[in-house]
Amino acid sequence: MDRFIATKKIGNVLIIEGEELQHVFAKRVKVGQELELFFEDNLYLCSLEKLTQKGAFCIVIKEIELTVPLPLITLYQCVPVELRTMDFIVEKVSEVGAYRLVPTLSKRSFQNITAMNKRMERWNRVALSAFKQCKRPKPLEIGYPTKLEELKADADLNLLLDSFGGEKSLKDLNLNGVKTVSLVVGPEGGFTRQESELLRKRGFIPIKLYPYILRSETAALLGVGLIMNLSTPP
Ligand code: SAM
Repeated sequence: MDRFIATKKIGNVLIIEGEELQHVFAKRVKVGQELELFFEDNLYLCSLEKLTQKGAFCIVIKEIELTVPLPLITLYQCVPVELRTMDFIVEKVSEVGAYRLVPTLSKRSFQNITAMNKRMERWNRVALSAFKQCKRPKPLEIGYPTKLEELKADADLNLLLDSFGGEKSLKDLNLNGVKTVSLVVGPEGGFTRQESELLRKRGFIPIKLYPYILRSETAALLGVGLIMNLSTPP
């Protein structure tokens, strides 16, 4: 079923306007067709009642109950120096099931917080688009840029993807009953020795992905995808 983002709710009617309305036309949605509409963090099953150049007017049939798959993975992604790689990461980790992404600053990451904040709107747009495409229950949350030295191992399971020093593999971990995971992934140039040691001391378990050294974006999407798929669905 097609999914769109509504801009307004008046009583029992959700309205799609602006750029999103062009997607409704592009998808050739017909009056009477059922749609999923996202509005203010809720998802609704609707029926298209009226379509004009000003808006798509949809009657709410019911609110859809959202079940977010566990574990909730927060990906602390050290921001690649090639900043647009983050667009790819936002899209792909949305699809494979990360819950939250926190752009993280490390010694060898992209450093300019102002440029990152400017990019935030774009990352949220990419997350919304992935949410529509892959039918996840909520868009990927994107947190504020955070320094690596501020990270705390406060999830049920705290992992550090480390291509050199990781002794454990993801399949060595017991994911039963794990509800929250923090996953730290380095930038193109990797972590410094001090960063790797700091994270380990804080309680992050170093993990190696088999068999090769991956690009940062590949490691992020494989790491999140494997954790979700090695976890037992409810
Ligand atoms: N030469 C770099 C280094 O010193 O680690 C390689 C960095 S790799 C291109 C970028 C990041 O992806 C790493 O910091 C790590 O977080 C993750 N990564 C890549 N391949 C990995 C692997 N096989 N196992 C675990 N993490 C990996």
